[in-house]
Amino acid sequence: MDYYIYLAGVVIIMIWSSAVQSNLKSKAQKGSQIRAASGKTANQVVEEMLREHDIYGIVIEHKPGELTDCYSPKEQKIYLSDTTYGKDSITAIAVAAHECGHAVQDKENMALYELRQLLAPAAGISSKVGPWIVVIGVVISAYLERAGSSNIGYLVSTIGIVIYAVAFLFYLVMLPVERNASSRAFKDMKQAGWVSQEQFSLAHKILRAAGDTYAISLASSALTLLRLLVLRGGRRR
Ligand SMILES: [Zn+2]
Repeated sequence: MDYYIYLAGVVIIMIWSSAVQSNLKSKAQKGSQIRAASGKTANQVVEEMLREHDIYGIVIEHKPGELTDCYSPKEQKIYLSDTTYGKDSITAIAVAAHECGHAVQDKENMALYELRQLLAPAAGISSKVGPWIVVIGVVISAYLERAGSSNIGYLVSTIGIVIYAVAFLFYLVMLPVERNASSRAFKDMKQAGWVSQEQFSLAHKILRAAGDTYAISLASSALTLLRLLVLRGGRRR
């Protein structure tokens, strides 16, 4: 892959990312100003959805800040952010139902969800460390192996690529897990009537847009992986 093709990929992802971010922001903002037709709050939605799936013992807690909503399987808690906790907007309900979707995935021992949980702690480190190890390998190949007698640089770079691949795998698994949590949210939202039919379409758009951000992470990770493979190059003879 030519360096300029890589740069073009980076620019395309940047443009795509800003389009998705602004779409998400505008949809979420719009949804946050409309009260759900049912008058239910996000907290009530969490309680109802968990009960519907026979999940008990999960505590709902307020986590100050924006976008802090998350389900913690370890603590058995669902954290809701400032714009979700106790709020009865369409956005709040969509987000709360999505987080419950993760709790349901956990309860059902969904294989991809468990794989994501397994990869999560390693992914952060591997995405930072992997590329540097590849670069070190490339430097070894270029400067220390001028004689061309060994393949240590190639080997080091390959180790870096394998390490980085853990992060790529994490993003690869994350996308369907996130989409699935939203699908579960849509299903229950429709069934329980937390929002009206017209409001449902906005709730759908909000969660779809949020899901697109994971597609961007995956694309950008794939591009990095390709770049690292090209940087390493072929095995020396
Ligand atoms: Zn999620």
